[in-house]
Amino acid sequence: MSKKAIFLDRDGVINKEVNYLYKIENFEFINGIFESCLYFQNLGYIIIIITNQSGISREFYSDNDYQKLSAWMLEEFSKHGIIIQDTFYCPHGPESNCRCRKPKPGMFIEAKKKHNINMKESWMIGDSEIDIQSANGADIQNTILVRSGKKIIGPTSNAKFILDSIRDAPNFILD
Ligand SMILES: [Mg+2]
Ligand SMILES: [Zn+2]
Repeated sequence: MSKKAIFLDRDGVINKEVNYLYKIENFEFINGIFESCLYFQNLGYIIIIITNQSGISREFYSDNDYQKLSAWMLEEFSKHGIIIQDTFYCPHGPESNCRCRKPKPGMFIEAKKKHNINMKESWMIGDSEIDIQSANGADIQNTILVRSGKKIIGPTSNAKFILDSIRDAPNFILD
C-alpha cells in the first residue's frame, strides 16, 4: 500500500534560517515544530526532509559536518516521539546541473520510489518558492509556503496556502 508523506524543507521550516548553518549551537527549532510533526504522524503521514545544502560544495562545511548536525537533529525529534522517515539532501551548487537541487524535483522522485509514496495525498512545507516548484514538479499539489524563513519575494506564489509557520499547518492539513 502506498503511503502519504509530509515533506519538509529544513532551513526556515524546521529551524530558524541561518546562512550556511552547520553548527549545533546555531540550530534553533521553530516554535511548534514538534507539536505539528506529532500531529502529522498521528494522521498517518510519514515525515521526510528534503534540503538543499550547497554549503557542502561551496566548502563552507563538510559532508561530515552536515551528517553530524543531521544526526543530532533526528535525535531531538526522536526525544519528542517523532520519527523522521528519511532525509534527502543535495550537496551541489547552483552551477552543478545536478538532478537533485531544488527547484528540480529529483529528491522528491527518489523519495517517492524508495518509500512508495502517493504524491496526491502528500504535502510539501517550504519557506521558499523553489520548494513549491520542486514539489509541483514531482506532482505534489498540496503545498504550504511559510513566512518563518526566507523573506517571501514576489507578489505571487504557486503555494496552496501561505502561513506564518509550521505551527499553523495542522489547521490546514486535516486528514
Ligand atoms: Mg529553506
Ligand atoms: Zn544536487
